Parts: sequence; C-alpha cells; structure tokens
Amino acid sequence: TREIRLASRPVGRPSGDNFELAESPLPALEDGQILVRNLFMSVDPYMRGRMNDVKSYSAPFAVGKALDGGAVGEVIASRSSAHREGDVVVHALGWREYAVVDGSAATPARTDLAPASAFLGALGMTGLTAYSGLLKVADFKPGDAVFVSGAAGAVGSLVGQIAKAMGASRVIGSAGSPAKVARLLELGFDAAFDYHEGPVVEQLAKAAGPAGIDVYFDNVGGEHLEAALSVLNVGGRVAMCGAIAQYNSTEPTPAPHNLMQAIGKQLTLRGFLVGGQRQHAAEFAEKMAGWLADGTVRYDETIVDGLENAPQAFMDLLDGANTGKMLVRL
Ligand code: NDP
Repeated sequence: TREIRLASRPVGRPSGDNFELAESPLPALEDGQILVRNLFMSVDPYMRGRMNDVKSYSAPFAVGKALDGGAVGEVIASRSSAHREGDVVVHALGWREYAVVDGSAATPARTDLAPASAFLGALGMTGLTAYSGLLKVADFKPGDAVFVSGAAGAVGSLVGQIAKAMGASRVIGSAGSPAKVARLLELGFDAAFDYHEGPVVEQLAKAAGPAGIDVYFDNVGGEHLEAALSVLNVGGRVAMCGAIAQYNSTEPTPAPHNLMQAIGKQLTLRGFLVGGQRQHAAEFAEKMAGWLADGTVRYDETIVDGLENAPQAFMDLLDGANTGKMLVRL
C-alpha cells in the first residue's frame, strides 16, 4: 500500500520535508483480521503533538514509520466474523490507502444514516468531542450563553449548533476569516467575530453584551482563554478541549494573565479527552443522527483528494484553510 511516513520531526510549523510518500507490502490476513480500502482519512490538530518526541496522552509517531489516525473504508477481504466484505468501517489506520486491521479495532459505520465521511466528523470522534465537551464537561444547561472558539472548525461548528438545539440563550463563535464568520451566522450562531479584527476580549464583550457568557468551549487557548475568563459570569464553566494557538510553538507560551478571575467568579475549568467520554457514545450517536436527519445540525467538510496531498491537508488545517471537518479522500 501507499502510505505517508514521518520523515523528520517538525520544529514549529510543519513543512513538506517532514513527510514522505512510500510504499509498503501488505501482510497476509491473519485470523480475525480484515483488509480495508480506505475511502477517507482524517487529519486532526492533535497529530501535531504526536509529531514531537514527548510523552503525552497518545504515543509519538516514529520517524520513518507510517503515520496513523482515523479513517473510514470498505472491507475488501475478511477473516473476522464481525465484518463482511462490502461493510464500511471506522478504524485507526489512516495515512495509507489499504490497511490490515484487527476486526475488534474496527467499528461499523451506519452508512444508512449518513455518508461514510460523516463518521470521521459529525457522527464520529469530532461529534462526540463537541457533544460530551459541551453537555458533560462544561455541564451546559438550557438558558446558558455559550462562547466557542475555533467555531467554524469541525468540533466548534457542532458545539454551537448543539448549544442552540439544547436551548442556549445566546451562542457566540470566533473564527479566522470574514467568510467563516458569515458561515457561522448561517448555521444559526447569534453572533460571530473574526479574531484577527481586534482584541478578542473587546470583540467577545461586545458580542456577549451585558448578559455575559456562562460557558466557554475552548479550542484555541492563549488570548481566547484569557478573554473568556474576563467575560465569564460567576459560576461559569470552561471545557478545555484544545489549545491550537500554541501547537506549533517553540517557546513556552504565556498562561492567561487573569487566571485569578477563576477564584472570584468561582469558575470551573475542566480539561478533557474524547477518549474518556466513550460512555456517552451511544447517547450521542442517537441524538446526533436525529439532529442531522431533521436538519437541526448541519456539518461542513473540506475535502482534499489523494493520499499524496494528505501532508498539505494537515498543514493547511493548522493554518485554518478548512471550514468544518478537514478530510482526505483516498
Ligand atoms: P478544526 O476543524 O477546528 O481545525 C483547526 C482550526 O483551528 C483551523 O481551521 C483554524 O481556524 C483554527 N486555528 C489555527 N490556528 C489558530 C490560532 N492561532 N488561533 C485560533 N484559531 C486557530 O479542528 P478540530 O475541530 O478537529 O479541533 C478543534 C480543537 O479541538 C483543536 O484544538 C483540537 O486539538 C481539539 N480537539 C480535542 C479533542 C479532545 O479530546 N480534547 C478531540 C478533538 C479535537 P481559523 O481559521 O478559525 O483560525
């Protein structure tokens, strides 16, 4: 199979030299395994962390070896009783065209509910991150005013729409371009701003008005988190999902200068990983399928064609070239 390997570890922003397109023979299927032809693979911000040689919640990628990550594909041969030829499955061996996967490590994709690609986005890990982060981690309640950063991205756009569907009093999003801001308003956000257009704290305070915000869903960290701490109401909650503003940093990044506000306002700041939210997966899948079916939640995809373009798709994701979920079609 053709695969993308990590050629070297990026320092700061990744570049094309950090990746290598290579070919490797496929092992013969063992009992319990399936051969999958990948249809789509996911590129995700967390993969930047795995390119560094540091101990973290997911193991670093090895230099000279194929990368991995979420993928959805068609079973073309099966020695597993759990999957038949023709089934579409989600698994963790992306960044390659064909994968030999243990049957137990592949999950059927309900393509009667949505196209295969959705199982890497709204109906997959991305959707569960948005759903559980908002409802379980930030403990969202109807009537809350919600602010989400990275709002035009895969997770953020779902967070805002779920909050609206669940009775938020106001949903505010920030994103990196005027076109993304316009898209957020189309998706039903009450207010949105481009964080390049002025200090986040000023734009957020204006968008929130005197009612302030009760929940902040943080995809970005840095200046966004600092701004939210200033604007949050007493008893406010923060779901700390990501800090993409600092994933390429080579220097230690300053903490929010106003963290002390958490004391006086009795704020809750909770970090979480979607891997720790799997107990909500069935509830999430049922709710999200309903919201997609009745049009309550819509999702965008930015699709790049060809395995050879996957490294560029990943780099473009970090630069904000995507609206909604960034995917590579294989
Ligand atoms: P997105 O689709 O949101 O893509 C990333 C976006 O980040 C870009 O489109 C870009 O949009 C924005 N961005 C890049 N640099 C900056 C910056 N300096 N400041 C502000 N925005 C920036 O990716 P995902 O939806 O997959 O992920 C969103 C966040 O959620 C990430 O931080 C990710 O790590 C995190 N995450 C965490 C999980 C968990 O288990 N905790 C699981 C999944 C995701 P723009 O044009 O607006 O700048």
